[in-house]
Amino acid sequence: MAIAFVQRAKHVLKIMWRGIDMTNYRPYRDIQRRKSRQIMVGDVAVGGDAPISVQTMTNTPTSDAAATLDQINRAAEAGADLVRVSCPDEDSTAALKTIVRESPVPIIADIHFHYRRALEAAKAGAACLRINPGNIGSSDRVAEVIKAARDHGCSMRIGVNGGSLERNLLEKYGEPCPDALVESALYHASLLQDKDFHDFKISVKASDVFLAVAAYHGLADAIDCPLHIGITEAGGLRAGTVKSSIGLGNLLWSGIGDTIRVSLSADPVEEVKVGFEMLKSLGLRHRGVTVISCPSCSRQQFDVISSVREIEDRLAHINEPITVSIIGCVVNGPGEARMTDIGLTGGGKDTHQIYLSGMADHRLQNGDLVDHVVALVEDRAEAIQRARDDQPKMTNPK
Ligand code: SF4
Repeated sequence: MAIAFVQRAKHVLKIMWRGIDMTNYRPYRDIQRRKSRQIMVGDVAVGGDAPISVQTMTNTPTSDAAATLDQINRAAEAGADLVRVSCPDEDSTAALKTIVRESPVPIIADIHFHYRRALEAAKAGAACLRINPGNIGSSDRVAEVIKAARDHGCSMRIGVNGGSLERNLLEKYGEPCPDALVESALYHASLLQDKDFHDFKISVKASDVFLAVAAYHGLADAIDCPLHIGITEAGGLRAGTVKSSIGLGNLLWSGIGDTIRVSLSADPVEEVKVGFEMLKSLGLRHRGVTVISCPSCSRQQFDVISSVREIEDRLAHINEPITVSIIGCVVNGPGEARMTDIGLTGGGKDTHQIYLSGMADHRLQNGDLVDHVVALVEDRAEAIQRARDDQPKMTNPK
């Protein structure tokens, strides 16, 4: 069994490192990503063939470095590649230095209007400035911010939002519409391009999925910079997840999006988890355990819902990409198990079937189902880690 684990683990790693080519033998799963140029946000590449990064934003006072770092650490543990913090005042940019130094991931400073905050944030070590150059005043100020970004190795993100479009565009178009969002984005971009600064990405967010998706499609055709995609102010955990999945799912499926942020009125950790689930659903990232489970019905031979809840909770610490099927009976159990790394299918007389790498392997009785599946997944994760250690030149496939 251990040898099979290692072989399977090596196979998984090979697939991961082949990136999008992994879907070639199932062409109906291919997503052709838009070809964007690549920029760096700290040590995280965004755009080009870089993995689509997942980011979130803290909601603690940035001036409270300890509380902000605590939230950043929790988001990073959940898989965040990047974290944004708002910098509305000098106390925030003063704390930023500590935050940047101690953060496990690159920090993006969110700036509105106050160009001095941008200068301070760049100096404090922010990896990226979220700023709209058209909002900070004179051309000289834009030049100062660009110089600070260059001096300190910062990239930028232009963040257009349907709720805060420029007055002249609202007058021209009558209301926020896709063309207005794209025109705004290209205007801000031109202010950077005119000064020969090209290390920027753009977002054109709206809370309306139709508007946001149409704007991103328009922008993707109009410019080659990486795109940060998101549905802004999407709502609470459940409604916001659904809305974001529709909007971002549409874009990602079309190949649009180089970094994503799911905006939820919820813990930033939830934003990260939802973002990763989206990317995993589309085969664009592979991280952690993916559970395939049935909704259960009267045919279930064990309590599917409580078992899945406990398995997901207990396996939240696993980073290796492992698929697990938890299916209540033989109607769909064997079929799903064939497609997953570890499968559990409910059987009669309180005796259930375990599948490993798609093959029926052994049976077990009620009582220790969850413990058994958790142990199998943890063993599989260790095998993948060992296989990775055997291939030291590979980069982190997270
Ligand atoms: S797999 Fe079996 S238990 Fe699960 S929903 Fe289908 S019929 Fe019901």
